[in-house]
Amino acid sequence: MFIGGLQKTTLTDFPGKVACIVFLVNCNFKCKFCYNKELTSHKFFKKSKRVLIEDKAFFAFLDSKKKMLDGVVITGGEPTVSPGLINFIKKIKEKGFKVKLDTNGTNPLILKKIFSENLVDYVAMDFKAPVGKFHEITQSKIPFETIIESVSLIKASGVPHEFRTTLYPKLDKKDLVEMAAFLKGSKWFWQLFEGKNALDPKSRKLKSMKRSEIREIIKELKPIVDVSLRGD
Ligand code: SF4
Repeated sequence: MFIGGLQKTTLTDFPGKVACIVFLVNCNFKCKFCYNKELTSHKFFKKSKRVLIEDKAFFAFLDSKKKMLDGVVITGGEPTVSPGLINFIKKIKEKGFKVKLDTNGTNPLILKKIFSENLVDYVAMDFKAPVGKFHEITQSKIPFETIIESVSLIKASGVPHEFRTTLYPKLDKKDLVEMAAFLKGSKWFWQLFEGKNALDPKSRKLKSMKRSEIREIIKELKPIVDVSLRGD
């Protein structure tokens, strides 16, 4: 695996669990607001001069933390573009850890396999934008239908899950209402946009939506979807 980083403990990223976070290199999106540029491609990672963590070292770390950690959060980049993901998860599970997978929803086939083999205990999917802005914001050509297929799979999986959206300033109320229709009955967390390190230089100066406006929209959407602003 291309392990680009390891956060040794988190109390907030895996609901109800003490976990570590493993960051896998490479992504099939180039979201304009992404602040993890070095994890979006092998080329950027190399340029960042960061060093990959060997699988052996990662699993030795897990062995040493069996009493302290309940789980592992696998994030990226986009974990489902890593060819060895399934075996990687299996190995973590064999050691007795719970697994949370973060994904951008571009790989419903892998998700199907993961669900059919009961390999994850929690899934968090980023739902980036509605159809009209999806390709522009993610700078990808992946069909929007693929994303909706993943949304449906996750909702039907029986696995605890959440959807997440960064409030990129080009998203407006109409977009959020449109997105809510797909997430009916689910947990949906919004994250404030922070432009400072955005992948797209032109996005760095964009101003985040005002909290008061966000709260108003949340109030309107609450009857449809369990939406909240992270940390509010
Ligand atoms: S999905 Fe977007 S935000 Fe996440 S790592 Fe890839 S480019 Fe960055």
